[in-house]
Amino acid sequence: MKKRSIDFKKYSSIKIGPTLEVWIIEREDEDRKEFFIIGGANNLLISDNPPPLAMLSKKYSYIEHKDNKLFIGAATPGGVVHSFCKRYNIGGFEFLKSLPGTIGGMVKMNAGLKEYEIFNNLLAIKTKRGYIPKSEIDFGYRYTDIKDTVFEAVFEIKDTFSKDRVEMFQNLRKNQPKDPSAGSCFKNPKGDYAGRLIEAVGLRGFRVGGAAFSEKHANFLVNINNATFKDAFDLIRLAQKRVYENFGIKLEREIKVL
Ligand SMILES: Cc1cc2nc3c(=O)[nH]c(=O)nc-3n(C[C@H](O)[C@H](O)[C@H](O)COP(=O)(O)OP(=O)(O)OC[C@H]3O[C@@H](n4cnc5c(N)ncnc54)[C@H](O)[C@@H]3O)c2cc1C
Repeated sequence: MKKRSIDFKKYSSIKIGPTLEVWIIEREDEDRKEFFIIGGANNLLISDNPPPLAMLSKKYSYIEHKDNKLFIGAATPGGVVHSFCKRYNIGGFEFLKSLPGTIGGMVKMNAGLKEYEIFNNLLAIKTKRGYIPKSEIDFGYRYTDIKDTVFEAVFEIKDTFSKDRVEMFQNLRKNQPKDPSAGSCFKNPKGDYAGRLIEAVGLRGFRVGGAAFSEKHANFLVNINNATFKDAFDLIRLAQKRVYENFGIKLEREIKVL
């Protein structure tokens, strides 16, 4: 199998991490249990000692439109899917313009914005075990029980393209910081907001080394000045500790720490 050297200070959205050799998966039978599969690294915080990493080759970046379905390779960036849907007047994928990542990463995370989630139009995923229908996958808010690498996702087309929805999603992004981040740091606990809790324990804008909880949106852990893994991880633990001590709530990470 081939490998590719990746500098995670450049590749990951939070701009933290070492340079590592990453395995490139070119065939479904190359998927191995010990690999941690990465997509666009928009939701990852990578330490100096992560498990062996692998990613899909470019072969898995494609979109096929057949009957009323889209067959999308898991390495396809969401932005490419959005452009395709705009061109062919396909609705239900407008939020992908405002969401960084690959289709594989989004399916695994059930990524979305408000009530628009990638699982809404999903019919099936393809893994090394073949096609698995959505009915056999457990999923919820930013959660799925998918264990294997996703090679392709199949979606149903239910709607036509809506410019209004594109605009609505872009407006929702206005309160997000521009500094490098990995999106929301914690999942919102039931009936509350992680950002509100972080602010309530005095950590909005709080800094450790080069990392901080953003002034603009407290649930965004941002890299403001060459942050290290330790800076970011210390902040995560501090927020969890303070929120638990003050509110008895265990903040669950949305960011995957490797
Ligand atoms: C500025 C910013 C804003 C964001 N806003 C949102 C938001 O509003 N809503 C939201 O849901 N998310 C948001 N995110 C997070 C991110 O967009 C999503 O988590 C996205 O799904 C990450 O995709 P990725 O390809 O980068 O995956 P990665 O970050 O590389 O990986 C994320 C997870 O997906 C798994 N994975 C990746 N590829 C595959 C595959 N082929 N098969 C199986 N598993 C795979 C990884 O193992 C990992 O567990 C934001 C991120 C940023 C940087």
